[in-house]
Amino acid sequence: MSARVIVVGGGPVGLTTALLLARQGVRVLVLERDGAAQRTTRATEQRLPRTVSLDDESLRTWQACGIADRILGDWEGGEQGAVMCRYLTPHGRTFLRLRQAETDFGYPQAVVVHEGRITDVLAAAAARDGRITLREGCSVSALDQDAACVRVTVRDAGGALSTESADWVVACDGARSTVRGLLGIAMHGATLETPWLVANLADTEPVRHAAIRCDPRRSSVMVSIPHGVRRIECMLRPDEEARVKQGSEAVRAILASIWSEAASTPILSASVVRFESRMAERWQLGRVFLAGDAAHLSPPFAAQGLTAGLRDAANIACKLGGVIQGWLRPEDLASYEAERRPHQERLSRLALRLGRIMAPRSIPEAVAVQGAVRMLTALPFVDRLLHMRGRAIRPHYRAGFIGSGAAAGAFLPQPTIVLPHGGIRRLDDLLGSQLAWIAIGDGDRPGAGYAAPFAPDAPRLVENIDFRDPSRTLQRALGRGSRVLVRPDRIIHTHLQAAGRLPHLFGRTA
Ligand SMILES: Cc1cc2nc3c(=O)[nH]c(=O)nc-3n(C[C@H](O)[C@H](O)[C@H](O)COP(=O)(O)OP(=O)(O)OC[C@H]3O[C@@H](n4cnc5c(N)ncnc54)[C@H](O)[C@@H]3O)c2cc1C
Repeated sequence: MSARVIVVGGGPVGLTTALLLARQGVRVLVLERDGAAQRTTRATEQRLPRTVSLDDESLRTWQACGIADRILGDWEGGEQGAVMCRYLTPHGRTFLRLRQAETDFGYPQAVVVHEGRITDVLAAAAARDGRITLREGCSVSALDQDAACVRVTVRDAGGALSTESADWVVACDGARSTVRGLLGIAMHGATLETPWLVANLADTEPVRHAAIRCDPRRSSVMVSIPHGVRRIECMLRPDEEARVKQGSEAVRAILASIWSEAASTPILSASVVRFESRMAERWQLGRVFLAGDAAHLSPPFAAQGLTAGLRDAANIACKLGGVIQGWLRPEDLASYEAERRPHQERLSRLALRLGRIMAPRSIPEAVAVQGAVRMLTALPFVDRLLHMRGRAIRPHYRAGFIGSGAAAGAFLPQPTIVLPHGGIRRLDDLLGSQLAWIAIGDGDRPGAGYAAPFAPDAPRLVENIDFRDPSRTLQRALGRGSRVLVRPDRIIHTHLQAAGRLPHLFGRTA
């Protein structure tokens, strides 16, 4: 075997999957079509029409990859309460403001990111990790599997073929996934009719918040991202697509109609994109799993495409790690699709609904929708709900690898905790990449009991740390005297609301 798991595709989802697996002690081989030089160019120049906005859950996943400190300059969130996004009428009046909020995950609710640089940091972390082999400049061209393993055929830049094998493959090879094609898995859904121009420009005077103009004649999004890049995304009219593809003057004229500085600002990249709303008919076939854009595509109106891919990464990495370590059965891997698909279907519908707000089809529709939004958000409780909108998007899995209890299937909050010797840490850093019990005590002393996944009769408690949670976040979310078993992806498996003996788990005694 080349590794226990082969990850096809070294984009953000593939690299995150690899790092999370490695943190659970799993040997991983990552196969990436682009060479390292292409990645570095992308990293510095932000050439791809990709992610500009992410949420607190994504930053928490990257914290689990061990890169939190290294990407501090690659995302920005602004201050709590500051306006981060304004929705404008066709006449430029604001009809909806979204404000920044700190969440119980320990990060701002929404941040702007430089995806290229973060992918570069992920690749550097993968290259440094002794459990990961990162092979760049090679493409997977064939794949077969049997009861024992999966074999993939790899073509290197010079055309030479080689074979690699593993117990499992996670295909993170993007929207046009080769692996999905080789498995004969269809994508169902639709491509949206209207083409969009997606451009990155040099930005010397960053704007503090995103502006979304919701105008049937030309909807547009403008936002500054770290490292001096301004992103403009705008609808193209039917006659414009061909002109835009022909030359940069047409591109510049359209961009300057949205941001006058674009008339003289260097354009770093410009692409014409048709957004898609599609989902693979299945996310697992035998020993192979699809993740990220390979499994689902959704228009970026909810800014959840990569966020969803990182959810996939955390979910499948946690479970493959569990099977390899012995605390999960191979048949439990079906819970990956059982958990992720329904949530992703909900998000895809949300993105299409937001698309109707962002890109109304006519002036009367714009007037009606924008007026209704303005009236609704003037109500204090709707405003409060908007402030907590991130929680509504988070998954709360109802079926899958989930035990019992009110909070089972939901995320564990992440407070800042105080250790017995006085050290201050984020909770996830204490929990690491393993199953963990947390007993919520009285006052601000929850205390963590660690489960040892490597033990053959796992999980069993191996260590107790009596930490403090001065914010009492855990107590408020889960109740005094309760205990939770938390998966490595921070999803609560079991939530016990009464004290007593720990229950039997997965057929074994904890
Ligand atoms: C205009 C636009 C704006 C967006 N904005 C947002 C946003 O604000 N927020 C958000 O969350 N999402 C957004 N998205 C979506 C987001 O960019 C994608 O969901 C995300 O980049 C997908 O990551 P991935 O790793 O799955 O795929 P990719 O980034 O496409 O990576 C796939 C990798 O696989 C490699 N590969 C392909 N084939 C092979 C092969 N045969 N062998 C080996 N390697 C292979 C490729 O070289 C590539 O590196 C946006 C998308 C678009 C188009």
